[in-house]
Amino acid sequence: MNTQDTNRRIRLIMDLRNKGITDMSVLGAMERVPRDAFVPEAVKDQAWDDTALPIGLGQTISQPWVVAKMTQSLMLSDRDQVLEIGTGCGYQTAVLSHLARRIYTIERHKPLAAMAQERFDTLRLRNVTALCADGMKGWPHKLAGETPQFNKIIVTAAARHSPPQELLDQLALGGVMIIPVGQPGDQHLRAYRRKEGNEYSIQNLMPVRFVPLLPDIA
Ligand code: SAH
Repeated sequence: MNTQDTNRRIRLIMDLRNKGITDMSVLGAMERVPRDAFVPEAVKDQAWDDTALPIGLGQTISQPWVVAKMTQSLMLSDRDQVLEIGTGCGYQTAVLSHLARRIYTIERHKPLAAMAQERFDTLRLRNVTALCADGMKGWPHKLAGETPQFNKIIVTAAARHSPPQELLDQLALGGVMIIPVGQPGDQHLRAYRRKEGNEYSIQNLMPVRFVPLLPDIA
């Protein structure tokens, strides 16, 4: 890494701190993950700016501040098994992989899923399992012989009205799901917490702008 690169990284991390990200483990993970390895050549010089960037197929890599805020809201520990819907370029996945035990991630666009897998291999992120499928249906396979349950779920595309039922079902008791909900132009990031039985508490975190969560494989 050259000096200019190091300076850009440090500037971004300071920027995130100034914008209210206080969790040192989240800031540490974001300093470690090379965001420039996740964006197309044409926008590499902006990789360390706090902005969303195009990644092809009409999709975007989220703004670092939004990635940091969502990650911090998950309150991750190294015991957590995380489900992520919307792998995209895989940047958010890479950040999660440094903070939780295992990440299961789903993307509906095959070329994006394939490129993300390559990056996970290159960066040796061995606790990531990636799949091309419709994430609205949840993780489609049993895990260790059991119906899958996740302590943490993160969705990086916006649901129109509420989280898909399959995702609510796969959230473990006491677990947290972070998901943008709403129509284009009126979306909010929300935290769903699963209480006893089928009760969920809902907290609005902040207004956001995400591409829509769409059914089926693209
Ligand atoms: N997490 C990415 C941002 C991805 S943008 C980051 O780190 O920057 C949102 C992604 O969600 C897009 O790639 C889109 O194709 C994907 N997506 C939308 N609906 C989906 C679905 N039902 N299942 C899986 N992926 C979906």
